[in-house]
Amino acid sequence: MLRLPRLDVLMPATLDEAVLALQSPGSRLIAGGTDLLPNLKHRLESPTMLVSLAGVRELSTITVDDDAQELVIGAGATLTTVEQCPQVRAHAPSLCSAAGLVASPLIRNQATLGGNVNLDTRCRYVNQTDFWRSAIGGCIKSEGTVCHVVPGGKNCVAAMSSDCVPVLISLGASLQLVGPNGRRRVAMKDYYVADGTRHTTREDGEVTTAVIVPLVSTPRRAGYSKWTVRGSIDFPLTSVALCFDLERDEVAAPIAGATVVVGVLGAKPRVVTRLDEVVGKSLSDPETAAIVAERVHRQCKPLANVPYEAPYRRQMLRVHTRRAIEALVADG
Ligand SMILES: Cc1cc2nc3c(=O)[nH]c(=O)nc-3n(C[C@H](O)[C@H](O)[C@H](O)COP(=O)(O)OP(=O)(O)OC[C@H]3O[C@@H](n4cnc5c(N)ncnc54)[C@H](O)[C@@H]3O)c2cc1C
Ligand code: SF4
Repeated sequence: MLRLPRLDVLMPATLDEAVLALQSPGSRLIAGGTDLLPNLKHRLESPTMLVSLAGVRELSTITVDDDAQELVIGAGATLTTVEQCPQVRAHAPSLCSAAGLVASPLIRNQATLGGNVNLDTRCRYVNQTDFWRSAIGGCIKSEGTVCHVVPGGKNCVAAMSSDCVPVLISLGASLQLVGPNGRRRVAMKDYYVADGTRHTTREDGEVTTAVIVPLVSTPRRAGYSKWTVRGSIDFPLTSVALCFDLERDEVAAPIAGATVVVGVLGAKPRVVTRLDEVVGKSLSDPETAAIVAERVHRQCKPLANVPYEAPYRRQMLRVHTRRAIEALVADG
């Protein structure tokens, strides 16, 4: 059995108290704990105090701000709440799908959206016990100096494996953060960086307080595809989020804009480029799915950082992109 190290736990009741507590040396933020606690058991981090957000009620609300035309999802909302919330379903249905595909019902009841967007990167060589890692001498992200995924590589390329992040980037979402230096907002596409050891631009002591999704008045079709071997529990082996703005509210209408975001490559999700070719075509035109799937395949090269052979995952990415578009068309 893997045991947790000895730790103090602080339960602030307000955001201000949480931000203050996080300024103590050795403190670490915990929300649902479904990612952090396994990492602590694997001795991937060694904080001396956990600052829990469980008692900070102000972080759990989900509202529609009609003036700003935004859906504001508190970082403390659980993934079950996000999946089932009528307002999220109305304005960001692809986020409901992604939240509902995370892990298992029990984990989704505990896990928060704030934890999901701040999920640590994952790698088959590091998400192991310290005993296992000691057999290979650790790596850049743990106790060693080399990378086992890219031999000779100087940077960690562990994978961003959150289900919600690619979807939120495809919807143009941003994060609200509060820290010792005040409040700021950052577009999610700019929040992640390509360094698996520290993959976000979150400053020390900052708390994500909300995920903000802009509301759109134009017709849209958006979806998410995640490939795993088992039907539940597993992290994604490939993931792709798609968002198409349409000129009319039907799948046969011309596409006005397309955004496709791919996860589980490296530490930063990849926004696929050169999709202009599908603008003006319809979603229901089979050529659209073929073009998008080809762009994804050309631009995205999975690494051997998570299980299953990287070339096979690359093929699967193309297949699942095409199927995701076909599913959007079938849904009408
Ligand atoms: C068996 C298993 C399967 C899983 N499968 C999936 C999966 O398929 N897809 C997936 O996406 N995830 C998966 N996870 C990971 C995890 O359950 C989810 O990502 C979850 O949403 C994390 O949220 P949490 O509240 O539990 O985060 P925590 O574990 O509490 O925190 C995760 C990280 O985020 C930071 N953090 C938490 N809240 C905030 C905040 N408000 N502001 C700033 N930083 C914050 C913490 O400090 C920590 O670094 C799985 C986990 C397990 C154990
Ligand atoms: S990508 Fe390389 S450095 Fe990063 S966790 Fe994996 S083996 Fe370690």
